[in-house]
Amino acid sequence: MATWQPMEKIPPAFEQRCTRAGPLRFTVSATLATAAALTACGAPPPPDDTFLTRAERTDYRETSSHADVVDFLQRAAATSPSVHYTTYGYTTEGRPLPLAVVGDIEGPSPASVRASGKTVVYLQGNIHGGEVCGKEALQMLLRDLLAGRHGAWRESMVLLIAPIYNADGNERVTLTNRGRQHGPIGGMGQRPNAQGYDLNRDHMKLDSPEARSVARLLNEYNPQVAVDLHTTNGTRHAYHLTYSPPLHPNTPAEIDAFLREGLLPHVTTEVRDKHGWEYYYYGNAGARGGTERGWYTFDHRPRFNNNYLGLRNRIAILSEAYSYASFEERVLATLYFVEEILDYVHEHADEVRRIVAAADAATVVGDSLALRAAPERSDAPVEILMGATIEETHPLTGRPLLLRADTQYVETMYEYGIFAPTLRERVPQSYLIPAGLQEVLTRLAAHGIALEPADATPVDAEAFRIDSVRTSERPFQGHSEQTLFGRYEPTRVTPAPGDMWARADQPLGRLLFSLVEPQSDDGLANWGFLADQLRAGEPYPIVRVPGG
Ligand SMILES: [Zn+2]
Repeated sequence: MATWQPMEKIPPAFEQRCTRAGPLRFTVSATLATAAALTACGAPPPPDDTFLTRAERTDYRETSSHADVVDFLQRAAATSPSVHYTTYGYTTEGRPLPLAVVGDIEGPSPASVRASGKTVVYLQGNIHGGEVCGKEALQMLLRDLLAGRHGAWRESMVLLIAPIYNADGNERVTLTNRGRQHGPIGGMGQRPNAQGYDLNRDHMKLDSPEARSVARLLNEYNPQVAVDLHTTNGTRHAYHLTYSPPLHPNTPAEIDAFLREGLLPHVTTEVRDKHGWEYYYYGNAGARGGTERGWYTFDHRPRFNNNYLGLRNRIAILSEAYSYASFEERVLATLYFVEEILDYVHEHADEVRRIVAAADAATVVGDSLALRAAPERSDAPVEILMGATIEETHPLTGRPLLLRADTQYVETMYEYGIFAPTLRERVPQSYLIPAGLQEVLTRLAAHGIALEPADATPVDAEAFRIDSVRTSERPFQGHSEQTLFGRYEPTRVTPAPGDMWARADQPLGRLLFSLVEPQSDDGLANWGFLADQLRAGEPYPIVRVPGG
């Protein structure tokens, strides 16, 4: 296959990359001093591999290890006063999670980032350990910043660059992970973390130290924008990259509009004009549940990163580079996407902060919000660019790999890209969490939900009387998911010592609602954390005080 070369033929640094990706990108290693002099491929400086990624150094045969990323970020921090190295938590196996904090700030602490008053953007790679293009693209972005590119961004933004979130999964390299994805042919890590959990299903239940680490980062650094970088599985379409805004119907409307009417169409046009590649909303072509063939997005539930961030009132974007583009193209497609997002956020930095602050300040008490949802069909069919692949053979395993072909055709089909509520409840003023529900209380605290001790004053409340509980037969992510049926009825309660109030008029009110309502399809009851408390005919142990 085209991208594979024997080990002894590692390409020397500069010229090859220069022809491949154009002159600007590879002001690279020249970092600060000579960056300005590097304007064309015709006048390359002496090769300097200081800030090449492992993917670049191996002509895209390999991807960076945890040690490579830590080393890259630490050297970047040693090179520039506006790059700060820190860590934001640990993996299950104790690997520190590296973070580069970039901007005009005193240091990498949350306090100095928040004190800057700038728009804070969190960029995350590698939540799925084999989906490695974001990890490489974020290192290249950091290098470009070192070289003086995007200089205007620092006026408006601070960047939190986290290339390797699922670091344990990243280190479990085999040549056969990720099936027919087109490289890196030197292998890549596995999807789950070291506990066997899919970290992109763990944002509500918080079973992993990784998910708790990122929840803590969100609470302390308070980014307004978050981008989560993946690689697709499945459909052979003709997009180099597909994307998604938060999909939960309870996402603040202004955030949805900012992305769907502003940022995403703009970024799509910019990439097409500059690079000639097509991007579109994430989807897979197929027929779901016996329905018609359509373009189906994935899921609305906040166990997924971008949906979770949406319920935290954040402008969140899912990025999915196309699995069958070459590894190099996937990295570049991801880098271009992130660059255009950051350009747009820079241009709209005040608006971004205003939208997020307004969503944090607005109360959802009394609103009728969704507890469950289902995909909704577009009003009219849309044109989807379908593609084709060429089968190649992995040079070392003999297994088939697929490479995108430059053919595309239009297929017209309905799009199922948004979700509509199928069950709603009115958001109460507050929930009373009994002291005995330790699994619930510790998780609410880890999410950053504010809790207040309850005094022993009797209050009028509502209790959810359980009619029945359905428990799924097949465990999922270590849990037997539960669905509750029943109805609310009036009650009167006197809080016991240690019971805690969780008020819904806090900034994380939407998240609180999805976590503790008994019928939420991604709540703590759904994940079985109250399983030993649930009996037909009995009340759900968390009562609520209605409001609005
Ligand atoms: Zn993924």
